[in-house]
Amino acid sequence: MNHFISLLLLGLAVALSQPALAQLTPNNLRCEHRTDPLGVDETKPRLSWQVTGAGRNLRQSAYQIEAATNSAFSGKSRLWESGRVATDNTVLISYAGPALTSGQRVYWRVRTWDGAGKEGLWSQPAFWEMGLLTPADWQAGNTRWISVLADTVRKKAGPVAQLRRAFLVNKKIASARVYATARGLYELQLNGRRVGEDFLTPGWTSYEKRLQYQVYDVTGQLQNGANVIGASLTDGWYRGNLVWEGQRNIYGQRTALLAQIRIRFTDGTEQIIGTDDAWTSSLDGPIRGSEIYNGETYDARKEQVGWSTASFKPANWQSVQVLDLPLTNLIATVSQPVRQMEEIKPIRVFKTPSGTQVVDMGQNMTGWLRLRVNGPAGQTIRIRHAEVLDKKGEFYTENLRAAKQLLEYTLGGKGETTFEPSFTFMGFRYVAIEGWPAETPLDAAHLTGVVIYTAMPPTGTFVCSNTLVNQLQHNIEWGQKGNFVDVPTDCPQRDERLGWTGDAQAFCRTAGYNRDVAALFTRWLRDVAADQSPDGAVPFVVPNVLQKANSELPGWGIATSAGWGDVATIAPYTMYQLYGDQRILERQYASMKAYVDHIHKKAGENLVWKGGSVFGDWLFYHPAVNSHPEPDGYTNPDMIATAFFAYSTDLVRRTAEILGKTNPKYKADARQYADLHEKIKARFIDEYVTPAGRVSSDSQTAYVLALEFNLLPENARQKAVDHLIADIKSRKNHLSTGFLGTPYLCHVLSENGHPEVGYDLLLQESYPSWLYPVKMGATTIWERWDGIKPDSTFQDAGMNSFNHYAYGAIGDWMYRVVAGIEIGAPGYKQVLIQPQPTSRLTFAKASLKSPHGLIESGWERANGQMRLHVVVPPNTTALIKLPNATAAQTTESKRPLAQVTDCKIMSSAGPNLTVEVGSGTYEFAYPAQ
Ligand code: BGC
Repeated sequence: MNHFISLLLLGLAVALSQPALAQLTPNNLRCEHRTDPLGVDETKPRLSWQVTGAGRNLRQSAYQIEAATNSAFSGKSRLWESGRVATDNTVLISYAGPALTSGQRVYWRVRTWDGAGKEGLWSQPAFWEMGLLTPADWQAGNTRWISVLADTVRKKAGPVAQLRRAFLVNKKIASARVYATARGLYELQLNGRRVGEDFLTPGWTSYEKRLQYQVYDVTGQLQNGANVIGASLTDGWYRGNLVWEGQRNIYGQRTALLAQIRIRFTDGTEQIIGTDDAWTSSLDGPIRGSEIYNGETYDARKEQVGWSTASFKPANWQSVQVLDLPLTNLIATVSQPVRQMEEIKPIRVFKTPSGTQVVDMGQNMTGWLRLRVNGPAGQTIRIRHAEVLDKKGEFYTENLRAAKQLLEYTLGGKGETTFEPSFTFMGFRYVAIEGWPAETPLDAAHLTGVVIYTAMPPTGTFVCSNTLVNQLQHNIEWGQKGNFVDVPTDCPQRDERLGWTGDAQAFCRTAGYNRDVAALFTRWLRDVAADQSPDGAVPFVVPNVLQKANSELPGWGIATSAGWGDVATIAPYTMYQLYGDQRILERQYASMKAYVDHIHKKAGENLVWKGGSVFGDWLFYHPAVNSHPEPDGYTNPDMIATAFFAYSTDLVRRTAEILGKTNPKYKADARQYADLHEKIKARFIDEYVTPAGRVSSDSQTAYVLALEFNLLPENARQKAVDHLIADIKSRKNHLSTGFLGTPYLCHVLSENGHPEVGYDLLLQESYPSWLYPVKMGATTIWERWDGIKPDSTFQDAGMNSFNHYAYGAIGDWMYRVVAGIEIGAPGYKQVLIQPQPTSRLTFAKASLKSPHGLIESGWERANGQMRLHVVVPPNTTALIKLPNATAAQTTESKRPLAQVTDCKIMSSAGPNLTVEVGSGTYEFAYPAQ
């Protein structure tokens, strides 16, 4: 019998022998938003799963979780058993067993009962492992911080240090972990092999208060007898060049390493090898210099072959210095690591008119080029990186400002070798190559683009009938990839790459459609709180290096700007909506409140926040398409500041209300901030709104903020909408908004009954618009609407990034309004499907892997029919608004709607038919209008 048939029969036999089981299978088990994390320091980690099954209306009526010290879940190993809990909740359920100890691994599994009360099978086991929870754990085995001798302040990039230590293992190993972190950046090797796949570790946090460590399972990398651990250590964000005035040594003068290998033997004993004075170090390795902005210099002739193996004979290695540095700021890694996520191949190798040898990767990307090359010893290959070519087709690097983005490889002459950097990254589409050896063809076989970013799981897709809009979606996704490199940054190429708070608040909702950003924002928002000044001011960038870098602008390090500081309220509230994570609100609440209190103090009892907006509606420049007086499109910064003051106050009020449901201590706050919000609104109206519904300064952003933040008297709303539309029309359907107005612009239009004007803007192809850069060949989102002007010249080189995600915030309108996937209840426990189709597209569809499972919404107009395809995940419900449908003319899976018992008609009045459904796949059809 062939193998396939025997498997089939076996499967059939197993299926027949099972008792009638629930249709629900729990899968995608996660702990603290991650899959099987190592090194968790939450004392009560939260567990989530999804349920899947065939058919409609699937619902979990109860669950049972088991946690144990081994994956057999045998009686003796059991740590905790939740009992049968009657609930349909599957998201972020706290472990409630006995206190967990450092390094403890916990296996867990879950089973569920379906809507009919039928019990299901246990899930596959998942696990999490606790980190090192106390400084004493770190001190074990005499582990201390170590540094190379005489390491001190650097005036320029210097060699990457190599550190090593040999040790003996002579018992049978059951398991082994390495825990490690650095002041600087580090990479470990064990017995000649790299440890783990992470890059740029330990990541970038507010180092003084919060320094992450990483944990790796190295059981398979150790051997009986002699072993060697090696570490490369360099400056990175900690000590390297950072910020735009060439500053360096921002966090400290010395780099240092802290690492500990813990080996458990089968006999129950343990061996610990830590960083201590038995390590030796060398500054004579191949990486001669490496910095975030400036690239890396590598000399293969200096490779110390086998330096992290036991057979290596170190020559001229020096002892290390043990440093007495704190262990109290160490935290487990919360977000996913930065990894090599994708590889791309060049699309063209060519010479520019002036003869520069250039390779086009076809995509503006963040990462580096990996070379496979053969050539004579001593020959140096220089690789420069650029995002664009200029009007004449020449390599253009002026917009990188002082960031060198340069890789230099000096060949060792030992045959074909692979080179790639370790501690830097570049933002680029084009590379200029000099010194390429004649021995190797300069072609795609020898060049690979390595794309790095935080390993956020992909969650969303969007596609429609307009290919330019699809390219826009592509550009938004690549803007996200390129700028979520541990910290959400403004850009990945010039001498900046900082955690600009305004950019992050503008883009976070869109980010959460394309990828799972729960862990990343959980981590980064803790840094926002950590870097908030004692009076509540939220800095412009987090981690706040501006304060330390002593920037040219006095007070920059500690000042707040409206729309930037508001990340403290907007991002936690958004994350709560996206993931249903109430704890992020609990943890950020003090920070949210302190920020609003700070503004309140600044605004005073007048409640108008004069001087609160440093950046205004940043980076909108005068459109060339109209005759408005200068400065065109300008929005009064004090009005912006007061509008955001009101909005943030309202978010604190809403948060207090949410938390107040389970904890009465928030109730007084809810009242207090509701009251404050009312007063700010009244003052806003006094100050900025005329009875005719004019909002100063009569700009698009002024109307957008006033409408979106609900700051107008009821009777002025319609007038304000009319003024906004008149402005858009006067500009021949062009926008005139910056970072702050843009994210809300189309929402305000569609929420106020004018989705078509939103489409006018979305589908606009001339400057300023989203599709203008697309038409100009963009593969990422630009910092400016006119980064490349219609005549192919560039905007001001001082501020002209071609990979800035902020304007990509239109993405959430595409998902929410064009395709129609919207949040009904936090974490998509209830889904709203409410597309607003246009005659200018024939179809649009989106999918989203929500915390509860896959959601899909797609509409298509064909042969006079409108079809709407909807997928609703198990254990949720959806309200579906069928645009311009009537119950009588609508079918679902070819049956008249009225006969489909799975579809409850909630309202058939008006143009939108509203239907409530449980989980499942639905196919609606009705005559198109
Ligand atoms: C950054 C921005 C940031 C802005 C503040 C720029 O240099 O690149 O994205 O938000 O400064 O105005």
